[in-house]
Amino acid sequence: MSEMLIVSRALDADDASRRIEDQLVALAVAGGAQVLVVPHIYHLADGSALWDEAQALAGRVAVAAWMSPRPAEWTLRSHGLAADELLAVDLRECESAEMCWAAIAQWLIPGGAAGGAREVAEAVEERWYPVADYSRCIGCGHCMQFCIFGVWAEDDGRVVAVAPDNCKAGCPACARICPKGAIIFPMCDEPAIAGVPGTIMEPDDEARHMYTERVGVPHGVQETSPVHDEIDSLIDELDDMLDGMLAASQTTLTPRPMMDWLLAPRSAPVNGRAKVAPLGLRRMEATLRAAGFTAEDVVVVDDAHLHEVIGPKTRVVGVSAGEPCGLGMSSTTMTGVTGGAIYPHVMTRRLWYWADRVRGSWRPTRTGSGQPA
Ligand code: SF4
Ligand code: SF4
Repeated sequence: MSEMLIVSRALDADDASRRIEDQLVALAVAGGAQVLVVPHIYHLADGSALWDEAQALAGRVAVAAWMSPRPAEWTLRSHGLAADELLAVDLRECESAEMCWAAIAQWLIPGGAAGGAREVAEAVEERWYPVADYSRCIGCGHCMQFCIFGVWAEDDGRVVAVAPDNCKAGCPACARICPKGAIIFPMCDEPAIAGVPGTIMEPDDEARHMYTERVGVPHGVQETSPVHDEIDSLIDELDDMLDGMLAASQTTLTPRPMMDWLLAPRSAPVNGRAKVAPLGLRRMEATLRAAGFTAEDVVVVDDAHLHEVIGPKTRVVGVSAGEPCGLGMSSTTMTGVTGGAIYPHVMTRRLWYWADRVRGSWRPTRTGSGQPA
């Protein structure tokens, strides 16, 4: 594996914690991962040179830390971690280093390089400050208006903890009034404020009253219930579905560059693998992995990356295509009205063509969800 695992050491670790950390590092190196061992990421100073390194990390990154996954992720992200995908593992939940490594090894993609570890020793002191989860923050500014210590301010279009160390130790007040449960204090005893999985902090009447008393205006944003969150996510999915329908209903009368750049652009791959793929394909990938195939054995790519993964050892090339023959009702309706050929069919033919070209003389078995007409 060539990707990065960050092991965040415990603050004031006892022997048992240190043993798990060291065993995990040894297992990861033996498994071919690059490992960066750092002091506790939450307590690291904002000026630490390690944050510059974090900003340069791309691709997939895993972090093992003595805190819940959500605050671990957003502690790294709020310090500029640029990784496309991040897996956070809570070391407190691992019964053994082997168990922890098993979860991480499933996720990192093998790269063939030798593993290695580097430890960055840096003095850290215990800190207490809010971590913003920007997947939930709506930029309402309630935290900024509420905090009288200047912790929060607007920066480059979003609300940021610009002076985190001004926060009063042990006080998680702004987490209580945040309407979206976006503020986390990873070291707080209250699970919802500490970002424990399955919990989200929601402002109660007391918190709303506290906000109104301090700020002088009513606590205005209240749409935090799981029902609202679910509706938001359904609307997002509906948008995606409509985008997909629009792209799939185009005929060759639509210029190809418009398809490639505007209507059906490719998503950037991660390490040559498809970042997004149809759910059915992902389920097949997961089923094969669960059956014992490794991440090296099963690879999902788009046609532009077939040549990078097919080789003499390839046994099966599976092709997934929606509407491969272009004979569905909406396809024939479109071509009947506008003429031309429907793009899903055209692109399926192209996909088969490239799959055959790349298969070359190795001739692995070919399978797929339908044959082009
Ligand atoms: S109160 Fe919460 S949602 Fe509003 S800006 Fe602050 S962190 Fe974001
Ligand atoms: S917990 Fe209190 S002091 Fe700390 S940032 Fe929030 S409101 Fe400000």
